[in-house]
Amino acid sequence: MRMEGREESENVEDRRGVRIPGGRGGVGCVGLLVVLVISMLTGADPRKLLGLIGLVQQMAPPAVEQQVPAGRGQSRPDDPQAHFVAKVLKGTEDAWGQVFARSGRTYEKPTLVLFDGRVDSACGLTTAAVGPFYCPADRKVYLDLAFFRELAQRFGAPGDFAQAYVVAHEVGHHVQNLLGLSDQVTTMQQRARSEAQANALSVRLELQADCFAGVYGRFDQKYLEEGDVEEGLRAAAAIGDDTIQKKAQGTTAPESWTHGSSAMRVRWLKQGLQTGDPASCDTFKAPEL
Ligand SMILES: [Zn+2]
Repeated sequence: MRMEGREESENVEDRRGVRIPGGRGGVGCVGLLVVLVISMLTGADPRKLLGLIGLVQQMAPPAVEQQVPAGRGQSRPDDPQAHFVAKVLKGTEDAWGQVFARSGRTYEKPTLVLFDGRVDSACGLTTAAVGPFYCPADRKVYLDLAFFRELAQRFGAPGDFAQAYVVAHEVGHHVQNLLGLSDQVTTMQQRARSEAQANALSVRLELQADCFAGVYGRFDQKYLEEGDVEEGLRAAAAIGDDTIQKKAQGTTAPESWTHGSSAMRVRWLKQGLQTGDPASCDTFKAPEL
C-alpha cells in the first residue's frame, strides 16, 4: 500500500508497555481459568464465553514472551506499524462514515487498542494468543502488533494489505455491532439446537466481516499497489478453518468451523473488494457460502 498522505485516526489507544498484574479487574486469571475449564468440559470456544469476536479459530500461545520497554501510552514516532494501523483505521472511519451517511445514520467510530502480551477489556483479561479481536461490550478492537509477524511467518501471509485486512475485519465486527447483527446472531445462537448450528451462524458472521473488510479495501483502493489484493486474499486463505485444522490435526471437521473455510473467506473478501457495497455482504441470506 502507498499510504503517504493518508491521515491517521485519532482513535488509537496505545496500551503497549502497560503491565497487567494477574487477577486484577475483568475476568482475571482465576476467571479465565474457569472459562477455560468450562470450555474444555463443554467443548465451547472460550472466546465465545468471553463474548469477544476474533479473527481466527484457534491460535497457539506465542512462542516468545515479549519484553517491552515501559512507557504508558507514549506515542512512538518511529513505529511504522502503529502509524500504518492508524492510517488503515482512518480509512475504515471514512469508508463506513460514508456508508452510514448514505442511509442517514452516523457512524460511531470504534477505538483500536494496541497492546502487547495481555490486555484487559470489557470481555475480560485476554492474552495475545487469541489473536486480534473485537469486544462488542466496550466497542473496541484489540490488536497486538506481534500478530502481523505471526501472520507473515506462521501463516505465510506477509504484506501490508494482509495487515489492513486484519484491522478492517475487526472493524467489520464493530459495524455488525452497530447494525445490531451481533446481538441477533447471539440470540439465534442461544436458541440453536446444536453446537454445529451455533457454529454455522458464527461462520456467516465472520464471512460478513471479511466482506466488510473488502468494502474498506475498495474504498481505499487509491492507496493500493500491485499485489496488494493478492496479499489480502492470501491472508484470508491462510486463516480459513479448514487450513488451520488440517495443519494442526491433519483433518478438518466442517461442523466445528466458526470462521469458514479458506475458499469461503477468500470468496467473501473478494465480494466486498469487487462491489464496495455492504449490501452485497449478506452472508445470512446467501444460499451458498
Ligand atoms: Zn472475526
